[in-house]
Amino acid sequence: MKALCWHGANDIRCDEVPDPRIEHPRDAIVKVTSCAICGSDLHLFHNMIPAMLPGDIMGHETMGEVVEVGAGAKHSLKPGDRVVIPFTITCGECAQCQRGNYSVCERTNRKAALGEKLFGHPTAGLFGYTHLTGGYPGGQAEYLRVPFADSTHIKVPEGIPDEKLLFLSDILPTGWQAAVQCDIEPDDTVAIWGCGPVGQMAIRSAILLGAHQVIAIDCLPERLSMAAAAGAITIDFLHESVIERLNELTGGKGPQKCIDAIGTESHVSLSQPDTILDRAKQMTLMANDRPHALREMIYACRPAGVISVIGVYTGLIDKMPMGIAMNKGLTFRMAQAHVQRWTDDLLRRIEEGQIDPSFVITHNVDLAQGPEMYRLFRDKQDSCIKVVLKP
Ligand SMILES: [Zn+2]
Ligand SMILES: [Zn+2]
Repeated sequence: MKALCWHGANDIRCDEVPDPRIEHPRDAIVKVTSCAICGSDLHLFHNMIPAMLPGDIMGHETMGEVVEVGAGAKHSLKPGDRVVIPFTITCGECAQCQRGNYSVCERTNRKAALGEKLFGHPTAGLFGYTHLTGGYPGGQAEYLRVPFADSTHIKVPEGIPDEKLLFLSDILPTGWQAAVQCDIEPDDTVAIWGCGPVGQMAIRSAILLGAHQVIAIDCLPERLSMAAAAGAITIDFLHESVIERLNELTGGKGPQKCIDAIGTESHVSLSQPDTILDRAKQMTLMANDRPHALREMIYACRPAGVISVIGVYTGLIDKMPMGIAMNKGLTFRMAQAHVQRWTDDLLRRIEEGQIDPSFVITHNVDLAQGPEMYRLFRDKQDSCIKVVLKP
């Protein structure tokens, strides 16, 4: 089959690889009808996340049709079922899955020892991601083997196009969780740093959850106009002072709720001294992440406010203003999304027409064009916000 494979920094190729087959009774094989490139795939493309190996198949936003089911998954899946596959692999049985903490499932990381060494405890297995999270082949391919398939799937009805359902795999529940973690109250201002696909979903989620005012921060005109179309007030950080504008819009008090939809690779104007330092530290392996936006959020947030982190960080952060966060009494909430905790509700909202996440798609092309799309998405050319690939 054809699959998009990682071969090192900035090197993704569309390779011919062996078809996946059932390896365990709980497996299923899915024929992929649509998959997408995620912002976190770019972290791998940039080789920012350790423990990738040449030939690893990319992709964790996938949907399709079940074509084969192992004996241990037959009670919940059958060939012909239409499914969206969450990016997190979940056993459905461990103590964490039982509590709905799916992204920290205790059983699905098949390289748990590696995860444990770096994080203290292993986290869930993820598709198409680093070997720290199991090194499972991803879904930017014609077929996907789904481990723990009886638990790791979202059944979706016929009659709704892929484009409206595909993002249940990641960016919709991820953006939703970012907003839910804010415990939004009717008089809240929610400020969102980063208007990529997850930021866009968070903006719409915060509005749906009843925020008084949503402020979106980015520097790309196409992303800012998409945010404005949803009803957000926008700040272009290259041309305006984020702190000054946020204070202006909140009577000098700052937003009560701040969402980090950026993560490790925050882009800021190079005139910011902390950015130059972050880049130098990152290049010399003295720090893993560039947290300029997170620092800015801690300064901007109203005392006793909430910082909700959904952007992916990789390891150690330098110059974290902990004293400011502590004295202001900020609450930090963060996680890789617990996808299935939200998907029943979100699927219902899609069916009822409350949410149509397909608005974010700017490119819808053949899988073989994947390598070119990675470069386009990396360079933000052709107003690229979200790429969907059709195997
Ligand atoms: Zn993703
Ligand atoms: Zn589990």
